[in-house]
Amino acid sequence: MANIVLTSDASLLIKLDASPIKTFFIALPNSIIPLPLFKRICRPLEVDKNGVPNRGTTALRTVEAIIHYSELQEYDTKIVSPLHLKRQINEDTKIVGISAEDPLGISPATVLFTSMFGGRAINSIMFEKLMNKIKRLKRKFGFKVVFGGPGAWQFRSKSVANYCGIDYVFRGEAENIVPPFFSEIIEDGNDITEFEKFGKPANPESIPKLLGPVNTKVIEISRGCGRGCKFCPEGPIGKMRSIRMEKILHDARLHVDAGYKSITLQSEDAFRYGSSNFLTEWEALSNLIDGLHDVGIRDINFTSTTFTAFYNDPDLVKKITNKLNRDKKKENVIQVGLETASTKLMEKHFKHKCSPLFKPSEWQEVVLGAIKIMKKHGWLPVSTVIMGLPGEEDDDVKDTLSLLKRLDHEWGFFIPFIYVPMQIYSTAERGRFILENMTRYHWTLMEELLKHDIMVLERLSSHTIFGKNKFYNQVNFINEAKFLRNLLFKLLHVGLFRIYRNKSKH
Ligand code: SF4
Repeated sequence: MANIVLTSDASLLIKLDASPIKTFFIALPNSIIPLPLFKRICRPLEVDKNGVPNRGTTALRTVEAIIHYSELQEYDTKIVSPLHLKRQINEDTKIVGISAEDPLGISPATVLFTSMFGGRAINSIMFEKLMNKIKRLKRKFGFKVVFGGPGAWQFRSKSVANYCGIDYVFRGEAENIVPPFFSEIIEDGNDITEFEKFGKPANPESIPKLLGPVNTKVIEISRGCGRGCKFCPEGPIGKMRSIRMEKILHDARLHVDAGYKSITLQSEDAFRYGSSNFLTEWEALSNLIDGLHDVGIRDINFTSTTFTAFYNDPDLVKKITNKLNRDKKKENVIQVGLETASTKLMEKHFKHKCSPLFKPSEWQEVVLGAIKIMKKHGWLPVSTVIMGLPGEEDDDVKDTLSLLKRLDHEWGFFIPFIYVPMQIYSTAERGRFILENMTRYHWTLMEELLKHDIMVLERLSSHTIFGKNKFYNQVNFINEAKFLRNLLFKLLHVGLFRIYRNKSKH
């Protein structure tokens, strides 16, 4: 039995080996994927006799490693499957640490999907199931429940957290806060009056090596961003901190030993790895890629970067692409934020998004130029467009619409998001934009974005991504499971139908 149990809702501990796109399903409502179907498609990870899964999530693995290398190491700590908690929880258990991406189903993607299609998000249903189970065990054994990780911003209210069965919440980075806070809970759990704690940004030297592989094959290479976008949780964290190469290579080796040849590098702005400013530091990035190839990684992907990184230096993009040994027939999917094409809103919320070489007034040219470069070198952007930012007026939405008209309709996916304030420090402008506030310009923007995506999906289906050339990574499995491809088309078309219906009311 463990003294400290780490777990997450069942939607995060699923088998993803050949199908990482399954992570997308967890934000879908049960009106699109009924729970029994989700459970059938997304099987839970295998566990040993102790209920310990053979993979973890990045957040759970990070906290596990922090505990292992701290004064808490005397306590038996285990990552446990939410389906097998009883195998590890008893009166010796002092803390159950929980992490979830979107526990209440209020992240921008989930809000959009549930607003459009009705129902409840799979991940929030799974979270509720987990917490019901934990509440029952807590009544019996009296441990404390701590929530941390990506979804912690959703528990600003103590009463909501307590209702869910959570005693404490920690936000920010775990390295500086988990050892002292967990020790305090273990020693004096009933005397702590503070409901939430904040973990300051960690020194990269103190970020520990992982103890086991992550099911998404995602390895952190940096934290923070430094561009300071006003409503981004990363905005205020300070400058980007690159994680030391020794740790990255160690974590990569763990994944190679677990049978993975492909990994995804987690960063807010991946091309800036090792850089001390907003530009790419070629030598650091190049050494990182070489190092990863040397430990046996064959396929390197990145979670996110910026359009700016592509537009800054096209020759560099060519060098990076060549270094990655990309098969030119395969697209390299990467997340980048478009957010808005309005100079006014760029100035207000995303002032440094294209620094240092460009100004907010040049953002449209940066985006258009970057997309051309991305297309030339086989990088497929998946980009967010935010509707309802504070201060937004009709003219701002029209600016984004006119940029969309200038985009190459063959390239990139653009995902409309409804503004949700996630930033945890700001006390101002916390108002949340809801579907009922949408104007006819918003509906037109949604319509154009979806039409664009359908067109791109159809074109890619006919040649590279879904066609005869094998597409890799995120959508590789769609080649093998046609019904999932059809599901995507169906979603887009149903979404379009809902848009027409709503638009006609304005
Ligand atoms: S560039 Fe992206 S990650 Fe960085 S602060 Fe802005 S929105 Fe956040």
